[in-house]
Amino acid sequence: MSCIKGIPIVVSGPSGVGKNTVVSQVIKICPELIHSISMTTRSPRPGEKEGENYFFVSKQHFEQAVQKHELAEWATVYENYYGTLRSFLDEQFNKGLDVILDIDIQGAASIRSLYKNAILIYLMPPSLEALRERLFSREKGTGDDLDYRIERVEQEMRYLDIFNYFVINNILENARDDVHSIIRADRLRRDRISPMLISKGIIPGHTTTLDNV
Ligand code: 5GP
Repeated sequence: MSCIKGIPIVVSGPSGVGKNTVVSQVIKICPELIHSISMTTRSPRPGEKEGENYFFVSKQHFEQAVQKHELAEWATVYENYYGTLRSFLDEQFNKGLDVILDIDIQGAASIRSLYKNAILIYLMPPSLEALRERLFSREKGTGDDLDYRIERVEQEMRYLDIFNYFVINNILENARDDVHSIIRADRLRRDRISPMLISKGIIPGHTTTLDNV
């Protein structure tokens, strides 16, 4: 077990905004950061791999995991279940590793309640029109489905108070660097870095105020 515990870093945002792409890019440049792999009941899309993109499970398997309280959070998104295994998160945190989660806004709210030190980032599209175009090219969806999804995004945008940061995903490299900067800054927060500085004897193991100096 590490003396510095890892924390959850949630990247949420509308479906189609590019959360997964941004998160995959951040993983490449940020050390000691693990990508959380969710469990879902939806079917794999072409090119998606079991255990890499998701753990694809049956509805019954998922419901059993919920009953056994194995999930740190879970939600129904577009009629499918999605969830994050609690044991996976806690194992990484105890090793001192941060875990980045690409999850929906309901999951983000649950993680915030469970882990008070979580960082919550909301990834924004440059415009709703840009989001519509991305969704259309990805899903090859019908107009009705797209309208429903865009309507959901507009509703979701009214409940963003739980997030600490907003990042706009216009240019991928910029969004990646913004998320990386947030993680790097948080790792320097006094309460996170003090145990390491104390263990190395760089700062004393007791706190004081300027009045006492
Ligand atoms: P997709 O089916 O497009 O991969 O994901 C649909 C939505 O489910 C996305 O907004 C994605 O962030 C969200 N999602 C993926 N995994 C999880 C999870 O473990 N928990 C929650 N709450 N949402 C998830």
